[in-house]
Amino acid sequence: MLEKLAPDFFVRSVYDLDLDTLSAKGIRAIITDLDNTLVSWDDPLPNAGLQDWLKIVRGKGFSVYIVSNNSPERVRKFAKAFGVPAISKAVKPRRRAFRLACEEMGVTLAETAVIGDQIFTDVLGGNRLGVYTILVNPVSRREFFGTKIMRKLEGLILRQLNRRGLLKGPGNNSK
Ligand SMILES: [Mg+2]
Repeated sequence: MLEKLAPDFFVRSVYDLDLDTLSAKGIRAIITDLDNTLVSWDDPLPNAGLQDWLKIVRGKGFSVYIVSNNSPERVRKFAKAFGVPAISKAVKPRRRAFRLACEEMGVTLAETAVIGDQIFTDVLGGNRLGVYTILVNPVSRREFFGTKIMRKLEGLILRQLNRRGLLKGPGNNSK
């Protein structure tokens, strides 16, 4: 069970993604979480830095898709401003929304990476599908009430993963 919660790689933020390394792995599509992965959960719009990042990512030939558990109102507004297709109310870690995003991008699971800040939704969901999973540190400490509770449990799991050497990458600060 613990292995299913282990990300393939752990970075500080989306800005730290090594796009050339992902390309070399055959990955050409990125499914990203929204809240606390791209911006903080109460930030309604993408900032200029994130828009620049998207240009770089697309310039390297990657397709980008947002898969979020948040509401249609929140996700639609952000995704429209960002210019990226999105699925809201995705019910991650269920696999359906990830599969749909891959289908719409016209890529296989092996060509896809899932990126997010939560191991019980983003990482577990991606691992259940066998795609390459990348954990990021949350953008902000400000969080939705329900997420705060999950973070306590997540902290326990992250310590376990770290102890077993299953948290590889520069996002792991506990080394
Ligand atoms: Mg998130």
